[in-house]
Amino acid sequence: MQSTAGTAIRSLDVERIRMDFPILQTQVNGFPLVYLDNGATSQKPRSVLQTLERYYTTINSNVHRGVHHLSQEATDAYEAARRTVAHFIHAAGPQEIIFTRGTTEGINLVASSLGRSRLSPKDTVLITAMEHHSNIVPWQMICEETGARLKIIPILDRGDLDLEAARRVLEEKPGILAITQVSNTLGTINPVKQIIAWAHQAGALVLVDAAQSIQHLHPDVQDLDCDFLAFSGHKVFGPTGIGVLYGKEKFLDAMPPWQGGGDMIRTVTFDKTTYNDLPYKFEAGTPHIAGAIGLGAALDYLQGLDPASVLACEGQLLAYATGKLSRIPGLRIYGTAPQKASVISFNIGKLHPYDVGVILDQAGIAVRTGHHCTQPLMDFYGIPGTVRASMAFYNNFNDVDRLCQGVEKAISMLN
Ligand code: PLP
Repeated sequence: MQSTAGTAIRSLDVERIRMDFPILQTQVNGFPLVYLDNGATSQKPRSVLQTLERYYTTINSNVHRGVHHLSQEATDAYEAARRTVAHFIHAAGPQEIIFTRGTTEGINLVASSLGRSRLSPKDTVLITAMEHHSNIVPWQMICEETGARLKIIPILDRGDLDLEAARRVLEEKPGILAITQVSNTLGTINPVKQIIAWAHQAGALVLVDAAQSIQHLHPDVQDLDCDFLAFSGHKVFGPTGIGVLYGKEKFLDAMPPWQGGGDMIRTVTFDKTTYNDLPYKFEAGTPHIAGAIGLGAALDYLQGLDPASVLACEGQLLAYATGKLSRIPGLRIYGTAPQKASVISFNIGKLHPYDVGVILDQAGIAVRTGHHCTQPLMDFYGIPGTVRASMAFYNNFNDVDRLCQGVEKAISMLN
């Protein structure tokens, strides 16, 4: 494939889209920024930045509490954002959308609240070998507390799940399956719809970690039929500090509250407290109001782009980068599953990923280095870490060319 920086990819006008993201015009170390760390966090379009400014300059107030004008405006905007999220992921309604701080908090909420009410020493929680620490540690903690056992679905060398093994462990009827839809380290897209169907046949409830997939695949919770799904606003072009936990109403309704405080109650006496309806039962305290409204603006922005074109554009970038990087002698790509999002993890011979990352940074190229919060996955491959380039729809072929030049330079300097 030829380098085609500056031209439209399929029907997506990448160069016009790049103009919507002011940070992409930044210079780093004297070079135009090449931002390839979208798996860690994504950049924000101007519409999100303007929404945040407008919120703080015109309607800043607390929600659900005041009779005054500003409070009502803020409440309306906050609840409109909830409806936008519900629409985006195809939830049955806004009562199934709980605003959290991010994916990590959403998973902790389910592990604690559902775990305490559902798990006992005879139960098993199932996760996979490619999970982010956020989808490992909360389950370890609740297993320790309840006596339940944690079991792991193994992966194959190219970084996809061992589906035969998955079927076998599901026959042991775990209570909960928690699984990522896209691996943040390998880029693998897991066949979660199929696995959820198997898990349901086995009687398990399923939580999908959509931290990575939300950016690339726009998951549809009703199509997947997942019971819970968690994601972070900052990975889908929205603000940091805001996230979403989706849960099927019947399960959220039956779960005890997680945190106590204002807004999550109906009545409080010193003898007894009764709890609010969904989703407020799980939103104790003042929420990140601006964050939720900013997230709504980010999803509105995404809905203005054709999802098939976004996916096609990212697929072309992935194929181009995979082809170019694979031709570099000594470079090994980790994660070669047939279904992948636009994430490439690699190492070059014995070069330490950190050293490669520093040299790339000197050339204005932002990648992630290290274990990517997937230490068990690093143990599986017997490596301390990788260099990870994660691409979004605003990246172009020029970004990939610059990455490859930077890698060649790192090799010549470090060897
Ligand atoms: N799960 C996956 C797959 C991730 O990639 C991440 C973050 O990188 C998380 C969970 C945690 O997300 P956050 O730190 O936004 O809560």
